[in-house]
Amino acid sequence: MPNLYDLSFDELTAFIIALGEPKFRAKQVWQWLYQHHTADFEGMTSLSKSLREKLAQSATLDTLEQASVQHSNDGQTKKVLFKLHDGQLVETVLMGYEKRNTICISTQAGCAMGCVFCATGQMGFYRHLSVAEIVAQVVWFARELTARGERLTNVVMMGMGEPLHNYDNTLTAVDRMTAATGLNLGARKITISTVGLVPAIRKYADEQRQTPLAISLHAATDHERTALLPINKKWDIGALIQACHYYIEKTNRRLTFEWALIAGENDTIEQAEALGRLLKGMMCHVNLIPLNPTAGYGGAPASRERADAFVARLADYGVSATVRVRRGIDIQAGCGQLRDRMIGEAYAQKGVKLYSHDE
Ligand code: SAH
Ligand code: SF4
Repeated sequence: MPNLYDLSFDELTAFIIALGEPKFRAKQVWQWLYQHHTADFEGMTSLSKSLREKLAQSATLDTLEQASVQHSNDGQTKKVLFKLHDGQLVETVLMGYEKRNTICISTQAGCAMGCVFCATGQMGFYRHLSVAEIVAQVVWFARELTARGERLTNVVMMGMGEPLHNYDNTLTAVDRMTAATGLNLGARKITISTVGLVPAIRKYADEQRQTPLAISLHAATDHERTALLPINKKWDIGALIQACHYYIEKTNRRLTFEWALIAGENDTIEQAEALGRLLKGMMCHVNLIPLNPTAGYGGAPASRERADAFVARLADYGVSATVRVRRGIDIQAGCGQLRDRMIGEAYAQKGVKLYSHDE
């Protein structure tokens, strides 16, 4: 049975026609799915009862079951752990900030990249998410926000998984999110974050899409980066930076680099200088995020003073950088952390200072 959230509009139309229904019904169903965010066929009230029954017998909409939900103390961040049909658990986080409502979505159950400080990396890879499973996270929160008179404004693919490892499903899901007759999110309002899969970055550059890319760099020397991100053995910093230049050349878009500041590891002036040399003159911005401690990694977040000194050193090279707040830290809204707890793994919350908002 197809899941309707897996289908493009043309595929849905073909499906509706195959059911012996007129073509215009596809448009109605599409609107129920993506404009009204209807959770079941029963709620599609402009369709006849018999068609709703026929749909319920021949297709499904179910992808996500809420397994647990947590709210941060400041009420700005909500994290939902979803159970998938095969019992896999993935998480989605909603962050409200001023007029923006951003969701952080997952693209895989687990992750194969093994970054040492990442809770998802520590759990290993289970499987790719389907298009429907990625899109349904967006629809879920669009529904919730609409019900309280708000709107979803941004999506970041910074939840569980490596989006470019699940390349086709991720980009099909982006297409679904940006469809003007559907969720109608601006392509520029969706960010894909990657650990640095070089051939996939080049392929993405060739597609010349509007959807911005963020690169998880975290270290500016190969020795240090390999210790944090094993993928650096396959594609080192030189190859990655070349792919980044290629991306900027092809798309004329600014790149974002992500950098989790770890005390005594990559928050040093030497790393700042190496990063400054690497990015000097490049059309880019660096997001510095104090490390979110995880059970499987002993590192601690950098102090505010070190973060500020890092930013100042980068400025000497003309490289712009911002220290970001890790939102929802009290509900472990970092990558993979809620699932971590749910499956009962040891979880050692360390003393983490919250920085003031400077987003
Ligand atoms: N796989 C993609 C996207 C998901 S991770 C990627 O790696 O880019 C989203 C971001 O969270 C990445 O920049 C990742 O390096 C970062 N991250 C993961 N664990 C973290 C932690 N414990 N503290 C701070 N940032 C973390
Ligand atoms: Fe995977 Fe990203 Fe976590 Fe690395 S940081 S293990 S790529 S989810």
